[in-house]
Order: sequence, then C-alpha cells, then structure tokens
Amino acid sequence: MQLHWHRRDLRVADNAGLAAATADGPVVPVFVFDQDVLAHAGPPRVAFMLDALDSLRERYRERGSDLVVRHGDPRDVLPAIAAEFDADGVTWGKEVSGLGRERDAAVRQALDDADVARHSVQDALLHEPGSIRTNQGEVYSVFTYFWKKWRDREKDDPAEAPAENDLADIADDDPIPSLTDLGFDEPEADVPPAGTETARDLLRAFCEDDIYDYDDRRDYPADECTSRLSAHLKFGTIGIREVYEAVDDAKRAVAGTDYDAAEEFESQLAWREFYSHVLWNEPSVVTENYREYERPIQWNQDSDGLQAWKDGETGYPIVDAGMRQLRRESFVHNRVRMIVASFLTKDLLVDWREGYDWFREKLVDHDTANDNGGWQWAASTGTDAQPYFRIFNPMTQGERYDPDAEYIREYVPELRDVPADAIHQWHELDAGRRELLAPDYPGPIVDHSHRREQAIEMFEHARGD
Ligand code: FAD
Repeated sequence: MQLHWHRRDLRVADNAGLAAATADGPVVPVFVFDQDVLAHAGPPRVAFMLDALDSLRERYRERGSDLVVRHGDPRDVLPAIAAEFDADGVTWGKEVSGLGRERDAAVRQALDDADVARHSVQDALLHEPGSIRTNQGEVYSVFTYFWKKWRDREKDDPAEAPAENDLADIADDDPIPSLTDLGFDEPEADVPPAGTETARDLLRAFCEDDIYDYDDRRDYPADECTSRLSAHLKFGTIGIREVYEAVDDAKRAVAGTDYDAAEEFESQLAWREFYSHVLWNEPSVVTENYREYERPIQWNQDSDGLQAWKDGETGYPIVDAGMRQLRRESFVHNRVRMIVASFLTKDLLVDWREGYDWFREKLVDHDTANDNGGWQWAASTGTDAQPYFRIFNPMTQGERYDPDAEYIREYVPELRDVPADAIHQWHELDAGRRELLAPDYPGPIVDHSHRREQAIEMFEHARGD
C-alpha cells in the first residue's frame, strides 16, 4: 500500500506523483489541512481549493476509492495514516518555495523516523528547477534566454490516470470542511468554479479559438481572450503536461501568424516556469528585492494612498477598474496587474511588498513565484525587471489597451455614462467638469508627472547616483 499526499495537484489525471505511487500501489489518496499553510491563504483561494477537493473526492469515489481527509501537522498526520493503512511509502509533488521545501524536509525526517519510504516527484512544472541553466551553469535571470532553452527541450507526455485497481478500496467519512470550519469568512469576490472538468473546458475552448488571437489581443482586458487557467495551474486541477500537449497540438495544426500566436502562449507557460526556477534558486525573493541597490529604496509610508489603491478610489480609471475587478472576481487581467502594480510602486511610491500582500489575500490564483515575479518586475527590483526609469503612464495605458473604456466602465459604474475620451483625460479635466460628468468618482489622488519624477529620484538615490 502507498499513500499519495495531494497538495497543489488536486486531480487524478496527468499527476506524476500519483502515477509514481501506483507503481507500488494500491494507492490511498490523502489530503491534510495544515494550519501553518492555511495561515498564509486568503478566502478566495481556500474557497477554490475546497471546491477542487470536492471534485477530487468525487473522482476517487467514482473509481471505488476515496480521498482521506485529515487535519493537523503533516509530520504527525502522515506517519499516522501510513500506520492506519499499513502503507510502506508516501509520494508527493515537489515544492519550489523555501517555506514549502523546509516543510517537506521536516516531513521527510518524520517519515524516515517512522520507517516509511518517501518519494517526491516533479509534477507542477515541465522542467525541474535548476535544470535549465546558462552555458556557464548559472540559473537564468533573463527570461529571453531561458525561454529559448525551455522551448527546445523535450517535454514529458501527460501521466496516466490511475485505473480502479490502482487505488485502495477504502471509504472515508471525514467531510471536507467548509470555509467557516476553517475559520475563514466568505470571500467578497465571486470565486470561479474549480475541478478538472472546468479546467479542461477552459483549455479546450481556448485552444479552439482565442489562442490564435493571443499575441494580438492578450493585452486588451475587455477582449477576455486569455485562458483563465491560472487558478487551475496554481492548484493543479489540470496537469501542466496536459495543458502543454493541447497547446502544442493547437500550434502544430496551423502555420504563420496563428502558429506564432500559439507560441506566444507557450512562452507564458515558460514565464511561469521561469519564476518558479527563480524562486527555487533564490527563496529570499519572497521578502527581499532580487536586484541589489547600493542603498535601501526609500519607499513612501502612505496608508491613505494604499487604502485608496485597494479600494479602487485613486481617480485613475484603469487602476481603479483593475483593483475593483480584484475585489469582485478575485482575478485581474495581466496587463492591468502590471498597471496597478506600477501605480502602487511608481506613483504612490509604496513598497511592492504591500501590493504583494494584498494580492496574496485577494487573488484566487495567487502563486508565490508568479506573484512575486510580477511585483518585482513592476517595481524594478526583480529579475529581468522593468527599468526604473521606464514608468507606466496610467492614462496612456488605459487609452491604448482599453480605448473604448469598455473594461473601465464594467468595473467603475460611476463612469458608465462618461465618454471614453473624458475617461482617458480624467486627470486633466478641471474639478467642475469632473463633478458634472461623474460626481461620485474621485479626482486623481496624485499628479502622475510629479510622482514620476519623484520615483526616478528615489531609484537614483537607491542606485547611489
Ligand atoms: P494566460 O494569459 O492565459 O496565461 C496562461 C498561464 O501562463 C497563466 O495561467 C499563468 O500560469 C502563466 N502566466 C501568464 N502570464 C504570466 C506571467 N507574467 N508570469 C508568470 N506566469 C504567467 N500569475 C499567477 O498565476 N499568479 C499570481 O499570483 C500572479 N500575480 C501577478 C502579479 C503581478 C503584479 C503581475 C504583473 C502578474 C501576475 N501574474 C500572476 C501573472 C499573470 O498576470 C497571470 O498569470 C494571468 O493574468 C492569469 O490569467 P490567465 O490564466 O488568463 O493567463
């Protein structure tokens, strides 16, 4: 008998760890609610995870088995379950974050002490962190070079889903807890449905259509032409090999610009792996700047500005639309994530860690590697970062990527009846005109041109210039 410990791999198909366990099966699938992990989670993510667990348990029950659900410290719980089912081994998918790896090392020790074999498998990524390196053997800090090697490297096929006789014939009565049982409030956002079937539907629909417009339209939030797979990839409700296979098939079925568009999407999957490799190599990036500056960056302590940013009340329409999308849907379009992150760090001059913490709490797809990579890129403190002097202008970004203000009006109802050109000129209108057009929407809380100068000075000081 083998245990398979599910963590961020909440599926049966294309699960490398589960497939490895079946070789020495039958397998008892296990999930452990660990308070130390939950302490870092926000309600949208926990809600998504609980939905994914319901669906996972259903898949096991259809196969005559069950998902064993327990609460506690995995160092105690896993050896106890191994004893309960007389299992001689445990498998799981590898973690990349420093905290996750420390936890896994402690579990390994506990299993060794209990004389239970353990085997961790690379599952969440196509390529093992650290396996793609420069010719000098360094881990990449520039995406473009990483991408070329990543693209050309052979990928594994999806792992086989277990058959009924690969799984232990067991039943578990412990219910999957509710959010309240776990001490969480209901999320203020609508959380999207989880489960492998939902993820497969998204992937199928995307590969039939939007993938071929991806490079032209991905930056336009009103078009909604991205895959929306991020929360599924975060929780592993779909396997990365399965996603890659579908995308690669869609790419090879076409030529010319359609082929390029599909490859552009593949490169986003590579960004995900790039940031995981960075985090694996440099776990301190979660709290520290990746890029070293001569002196500490003198971030602004601006609690009112930070609150206005969180509430979507900055008077910069595209920023406010993004921040309200976050609260309404626990999701923000990628281009808009870049805009709001730039606004917080370069217009409000607030430390990227404040923004990262808010995203961690509110995003359904929060992923330590990607969130950190995105924030540090926008703050000019990361790998391959936005140069500190190239600062997003929130008005021109809005005008360029949401020209008809469709996305803005969707999330900022106060601007619903305001013409698009007035929305994009909001910072330049006088107070009387603004009052006339949208009396309930605020004027800009900072002057972008002035803050741009200050941001450049702040970074030049940090550089020691
Ligand atoms: P698609 O465009 O369909 O992309 C497909 C997949 O590729 C995504 O699901 C994701 O797994 C990966 N991907 C796409 N863009 C990126 C990127 N720039 N970096 C890394 N992976 C990428 N992504 C997260 O998954 N979790 C986060 O917590 C997260 N936080 C971010 C914070 C900031 C400040 C920024 C600028 C970006 C962040 N991203 C994060 C990256 C990106 O915004 C989201 O992955 C994307 O918007 C999710 O939508 P989608 O699934 O429709 O993406």
